[in-house]
Parts: sequence; structure tokens; C-alpha cells
Amino acid sequence: KYHEQLVELKGNIRVLCRVKPVLKEDQDEEGQAVVVTTDVHNESALTVLNKGKAKTFELDKVFHPQATQEEVFQEIEPLITSCIDGYHVCIFAYGQTGSGKTYTMEGTVENPGINQRALKHLFHEIEERKDMWTYTVTVSSMEIYNEVLRDLLSKDGEKLDIKMNPDGTGQLHVPGLRIMEVKSFHTQKQNHIWDADEPAQLSLAFFWSLVLPPLLSTLILWVSAPGKLNLVDLAGSERVWKSGAEGERLKEAQNINRSLLALGDVIQALRGHQTHIPFRNSRLTYLLQDSLGKGNKTAMVVQVSSLERNSGETLCSLKFAQRVC
Ligand code: ADP
Ligand code: MG
Repeated sequence: KYHEQLVELKGNIRVLCRVKPVLKEDQDEEGQAVVVTTDVHNESALTVLNKGKAKTFELDKVFHPQATQEEVFQEIEPLITSCIDGYHVCIFAYGQTGSGKTYTMEGTVENPGINQRALKHLFHEIEERKDMWTYTVTVSSMEIYNEVLRDLLSKDGEKLDIKMNPDGTGQLHVPGLRIMEVKSFHTQKQNHIWDADEPAQLSLAFFWSLVLPPLLSTLILWVSAPGKLNLVDLAGSERVWKSGAEGERLKEAQNINRSLLALGDVIQALRGHQTHIPFRNSRLTYLLQDSLGKGNKTAMVVQVSSLERNSGETLCSLKFAQRVC
């Protein structure tokens, strides 16, 4: 009941924070003092020490530096399940470059992240429901870079456009986007899932990353109705333009800044139950508008470094988190 009231109040948006552990390679540079502390007794708060002052942030959930990929996924798993129930779900990783966005989404071979675990969980759920339903899982992968949309499943990274569906439903689509059907998690072994002769047909689309995004790019993994899972490894949130970047680098930074700001504005507007949601201010939010907002579910994992030298960016990321929280 309490949870339902909370959902009513805040919308289906959860803001999580993951603190990156201090790695060996972090230790030989300056500013390696740890200034971010988590609290074992309060799983929704963390404190940043900055110029002698301690500032505490309250979020929906904080993962301490030793939290495993499994623990992070446990928080995400219910959203993946609701995607099979027909919800549109968005999972974002936000944070400065090097803070662990790709680690959380993609992970490594030994420690796979959300993308792989989500796919595995999807096929597990589909197997559980196979007496009732037949699902089709399709995957697309795209990148938005300097407000240009590219298909990551096409060899040459074909440029694409977002268009209104001609059927008058107001739905968006991306003509020419490659859509791959995924048969199972272990492609060879689990094909039998799809041999079942089932009465109900339900298509489930799924965005899946097959290619690592280049530096400072936005990767979107996309699907089609009714269930939809968007897995988004956002561009680095660092304030590059403040460091005197010029030319292409500056343009890139401005575009990234604009789309991250636009995303923050959209989530803030949704949380505040505003009537006008500014989806059109960036390609990213325009593309995701049918997955953000009423009747959909979103989780934002804000990644932060705990090191003193990153405290400026850490504070910025947490202010962003607080704004959308
Ligand atoms: P980003 O995508 O935000 O730029 P990465 O995910 O590439 O950052 O992380 C930078 C480095 O730190 C990578 O080598 C990654 O494997 C490592 N790393 C990040 N988070 C963790 C973690 N929780 N545990 C272990 N290594 C991590
Ligand atoms: Mg990355």
C-alpha cells in the first residue's frame, strides 16, 4: 500500500546511485582521498565532503562501492519483468566519464552488467510463461551523437531519422532501423522456447547493445510495442565546455549537455506532474517519449566517483539526481 502511494506520488521513476570503488589505477594520482561515504544504516543516503563541508543527498537507493553487479540487478529486475507485462521501461546510466556507466550497463565478461542480466531474465520469464504466451523478442541498437541518430546494427552505422507513424496514432518510428529477432539467451541451446505452439501472440521488443559506444556518445537500445525495454548508456556528464574546449569538441560537449539537460527537464516535469513535458528539446527525449512518463517505468543509475579529485563532478551528478528524484 505504502509502495503504491509512493508510486502515485513520485511516478514510476526511481533514482539510484552507485559509488565506484577505488581501483588500483586510481591510487597513484593526486586527489585520491575518498570524500564520498555511504551509510550502512541508511541505504538511501550518501555524504560528500567538499572543502571541509559535508553535504548529504537522499536518493531512492544508494549502492556502496562494494555492491556487486548482482545486487544492482536485483533492484532493476522488477522493471525487466514489467516489461514482459507490457510496460515501456527505461534504464539509464548517468555520470562523468570513468564513473562506471558502461560497467553497470555492459559489465565485463566475468561480471556482466544490466544488459546481459536483463536479457537472461527476460528469457527466463518467457520460459516460465510459455504455456500461456508466445513472445517475440527483437532488438535494435542505436547511437545519438551530435544529435545525429545512427544504427549500430548496420555495418556502416547508417544515419537515421525519427518520423511520425503515418497511421495517425501519434507514435514515433525510425524508418530503416535494423531490427533483429533474438531467439534465446544462449542462442543455440534454448531455441525450443520458440517452438511452442501457443494461442496468444505478444511481441516484445528489446533494445540491446551489441557495440560499445564511442567516447561521449549516447547509446540507445530500442524495441517496439507492446513491451519495450530501453537500455541507455548516456554520454559522460562532465562539463567539458568549461575546460576551454574548441571546435568539434565544443559542439559535441554542447550537444551532450543539451540532451542530458533535456532528459533532466523531462524527468523533472514528469515527477512534478506538469501538463507540458518538453520531449522535443532533444533527439534522446523525443525518441524515448513513448517510454517515459505515465504508465511507464524508469530507473536512473547515477554513477559517482568517491575520489577527491572528482568531487566537483560528483556534486554535479548528485544535484542532477536530486533534481529528478
Ligand atoms: P564510464 O562508462 O562511465 O566512462 P566505465 O564503466 O568504463 O566508465 O568504468 C571505468 C573503469 O572502471 C573501467 O575499467 C571499469 O571496468 C572500472 N569500473 C567501474 N565501476 C566498477 C566497479 N563497480 N567495480 C570494478 N570496476 C569498475
Ligand atoms: Mg562508458
